[in-house]
Amino acid sequence: MKKNNNLLEVPNINSSDAQVKSLIYKIGDDLFNSHYKSSSKSEYLCVCSGGTTSSCARNGLITLDLRKEYNHIHLDEERNLIKIGGGVIMKDLMNVLENYNKTFPIGLSKLPGAGYILTGGISPMSRRYGLAIDNIESIKGYLGNGTFISLEKNNLNSTQKLLWEGLKGAAPFLAIITEIGLKIFQSHPIQIIEGFVDDNELSKIINLAEGFPENLSLQWIYAEDIYIYIFAEIKNDSDKKITKNYLKKIEKFTSLKIKSYENYNQINFFPKELELFELNKNNHSEVISLLGGDLKNNIHSFVKCMKEIIHDKPNRSCYVASQQLGGKTKEYDPKSSFFIHRKSTWKPWIYAAWKKDDIKERETVLNWMNESWNKLKIFFPKIHLAQIHNHLNSHEEEVYLSFEERLGELKTLKNIYDPESILPPL
Ligand SMILES: Cc1cc2nc3c(=O)[nH]c(=O)nc-3n(C[C@H](O)[C@H](O)[C@H](O)COP(=O)(O)OP(=O)(O)OC[C@H]3O[C@@H](n4cnc5c(N)ncnc54)[C@H](O)[C@@H]3O)c2cc1C
Repeated sequence: MKKNNNLLEVPNINSSDAQVKSLIYKIGDDLFNSHYKSSSKSEYLCVCSGGTTSSCARNGLITLDLRKEYNHIHLDEERNLIKIGGGVIMKDLMNVLENYNKTFPIGLSKLPGAGYILTGGISPMSRRYGLAIDNIESIKGYLGNGTFISLEKNNLNSTQKLLWEGLKGAAPFLAIITEIGLKIFQSHPIQIIEGFVDDNELSKIINLAEGFPENLSLQWIYAEDIYIYIFAEIKNDSDKKITKNYLKKIEKFTSLKIKSYENYNQINFFPKELELFELNKNNHSEVISLLGGDLKNNIHSFVKCMKEIIHDKPNRSCYVASQQLGGKTKEYDPKSSFFIHRKSTWKPWIYAAWKKDDIKERETVLNWMNESWNKLKIFFPKIHLAQIHNHLNSHEEEVYLSFEERLGELKTLKNIYDPESILPPL
């Protein structure tokens, strides 16, 4: 443990270096009654679950670290439900589920906490099982105005309905979530086809992926080189047959290898052994996540654009990667949650990193991130607000491009349920 009491030990380096005002672990009445009544608008409460973003700790602000007091996991095997505390990370959730041969559509890393679920939650399995928010059955927590809430999907009154939708995709602005009830699924074997590819091969594989059935998804990273993962869940004979057919089409990409896993929990995407990018503790970073539909006839121009972006990256650690959604995620009514961009097929994210004390490099790298975002907007015009950037100039545009026609409703919810902006501002 670090000696300085005003530092939070978390995976995100920006946050772990932040000189927080204080750390608190439990939610009590005083949180809502005393301290924040006298706070200025810029003095909101940071909430930490997995601690993987730059927003769970800020210089001079208080962090509520949910990992100690809100880390319970209760499995109801018969009802295929699991209840997790607001400070549980995906690794712990998956380790419990694995013991029961169950699974949940977590993302590409097991490090994120409840923030993964509450901001949408895009998984390689989402094309079959939906987003993480699509599998929320119940929510407990405290609204920004201090009111305790306990909501169940199948037992909502008319006023709770809009709040329920708001909590699915925009919870960080409205509430501190202490417990989430999730639908869980039977675990099945997984096949992964992975390896390095060149630009031309990436184009062909993206083209193939846009016709994938729901048990397959493509994820790629473009750093120094391009590395891809085709994910296939093998639930039954039909999956086996479909995957075999796709494997035949993929055979011509000789650098790709097929690996089989007993279940989803066994997979480790983008491991450091591959040296895809530099994982440097002396770096700070920001990530912006985009959303867009099928690339169709634009695949070649997109890959050309990617080549330019990577050519211009100012720090070795910077990269752009993408995951594929669609399938089941497209079937949900956009009104069912505040993840409104249901037509999306691709979620690319731009990872921008700089030497942590180098203010000049920070500026250069953030410029690269914004310029790259601008170049990619033509393909991916929307935003997935998985990271809160209220300390960056892009915040307002990101919030708009995330919630668009529902932004007015979100602002209304914020005014009602967090009127003094105790939680991060919109
Ligand atoms: C290595 C890596 C891989 C990732 N892969 C994926 C992926 O495959 N798919 C995907 O969709 N996303 C992915 N993400 C993005 C990640 O899911 C989001 O950034 C998420 O918000 C992180 O949540 P956290 O709890 O770990 O972070 P934190 O920094 O602890 O939380 C982020 C913010 O969320 C809010 N928050 C968190 N918990 C609560 C709570 N209980 N109540 C209220 N507010 C809360 C807070 O405002 C907090 O500041 C990935 C991130 C990383 C670092």
